[in-house]
Amino acid sequence: MIVKKHSLAPGSAYNTPYHVIRGSQQGPVFMIVAGIHGNETASMKAAQRIVNQLRHGSRSIQRGTLIIVPILNKQAYRKRIRGVPDLNRRFPRYNNEAASHPLASSLCRLMRSYHPSWYLDLHEANGLSQRSKRVLGQSLVVSPGNPAVPAVRHVLKGINETVGVESLRFNIRLRSRSGTSRMAVSRLLGAKAVTVETCWSLNHADRVHYQMDIIYRFLRYAGLMI
Ligand SMILES: [Zn+2]
Repeated sequence: MIVKKHSLAPGSAYNTPYHVIRGSQQGPVFMIVAGIHGNETASMKAAQRIVNQLRHGSRSIQRGTLIIVPILNKQAYRKRIRGVPDLNRRFPRYNNEAASHPLASSLCRLMRSYHPSWYLDLHEANGLSQRSKRVLGQSLVVSPGNPAVPAVRHVLKGINETVGVESLRFNIRLRSRSGTSRMAVSRLLGAKAVTVETCWSLNHADRVHYQMDIIYRFLRYAGLMI
């Protein structure tokens, strides 16, 4: 396994690291992005911790290529704000449309150069999906008809077996939202694309744990990890 650190948008105010981890065997390309919203801190912590575990060898990728962007919008993260404008409405909505934010453009270039067949977009949200259909906290969001749906159902079953408190269990939400990175990567590249949403009113360590557990379940399902 080889772990390499690179720069996204080098030489600009949006410069931020991304990591490419290659397994020793051929396999799928899997991309994980956190920090599209700068105040969803557990998702960024989880992404960074996974990079650290891979770098230090306590976890490893056997097959394929994993690309991780731990904090996409560093400017928003420094202020712990969602970001202005909302970066997750600035990705291309159609094949020939350009992204309308420099960071969204940089991420789209990265997507096009690696062509991931899997994409996880890490977020946090209000509320508990188990209590209300209108909220996204503790949910996996997927666009209707996206080929990730069977994987989402498999991961949900596994994670929910570990969640003792029923109100904290995760649910699938079938949603379309134009301008998101999830919709862009699925429309432009046909990727299996999922948004992970933990509930940000829970304890920080628990949210980081849920995010990491969900990510590793997807990596195993996709065949990158044993
Ligand atoms: Zn978000």
